[in-house]
Amino acid sequence: MRADQVRKIFDGHAVLRGISLDVARGELISIIGPSGCGKSTFLRCLNFLEIPDSGTVDIAGVTITRTGGRWTRQEEDAAHRLRAHVGMVFQSFNLFPHRTVLDNVMLAPVRVKRMPADEARAEALALLDKVGLSAMATRYPDTLSGGQQQRAAIARALAMRPDVMLYDEPTSALDPELAEEVLSVMRTLDNEGMTQLVVTHDMRFARAASDRVVFMDGGEIVEADDPDRLFVAPEDPRTRRFLRSVL
Ligand code: ADP
Ligand code: MG
Repeated sequence: MRADQVRKIFDGHAVLRGISLDVARGELISIIGPSGCGKSTFLRCLNFLEIPDSGTVDIAGVTITRTGGRWTRQEEDAAHRLRAHVGMVFQSFNLFPHRTVLDNVMLAPVRVKRMPADEARAEALALLDKVGLSAMATRYPDTLSGGQQQRAAIARALAMRPDVMLYDEPTSALDPELAEEVLSVMRTLDNEGMTQLVVTHDMRFARAASDRVVFMDGGEIVEADDPDRLFVAPEDPRTRRFLRSVL
């Protein structure tokens, strides 16, 4: 996937000032940076939950280029196709509360992809097994721990067979040991070749698990590098200042 010169303006204020990022298939990229620098907006622009004012996003062969005009019906159709390739996971798990865990995972493939229920159920059970939730299939979300709910949310996103997974602070609401269960699922997906972008405050994870770390500040990418380079010898003073404040 690729983002090229993505810009987003909110109320006359440039929140994204031309973000360009090429992501190779199978890469795990951590996005770090101070609160308010545009990390969430960037992720949301990648699947057009926010409409960029200008710039190009290309995911799994669906390319959308914005040049500042009104959002058209054709662009919405393209965004719909693009979103089919993207799974998104939020800080707040966002499961359907009145559905079992299994139903949460099965629902979109059945409703959106018209997958036969038997097939969707078998796939959902396999995904729940992958994220360590086989025993929780018939439970309701509010009876699960936060870490379990987040893993169910990941299984639900995976059920649509995305090419890219986007995570916005997936472990920020979790105690460290529960966060670890979630991070471990992301490592497993990485080993299986999934392409993943993770906005995170977990510097240990960013350093240990990422192929590349992107540091954002003030609506731009300040530097993007191999974690051992970026954490050990950051080039930009803004990166150094940020890392000093969080490490
Ligand atoms: P981060 O995720 O890095 O903390 P965000 O992308 O959430 O940053 O926000 C970047 C900036 O954009 C902030 O100044 C925020 O207040 C502003 N912003 C985000 N969403 C909106 C919105 N829907 N309307 C207006 N301003 C917004
Ligand atoms: Mg955010």
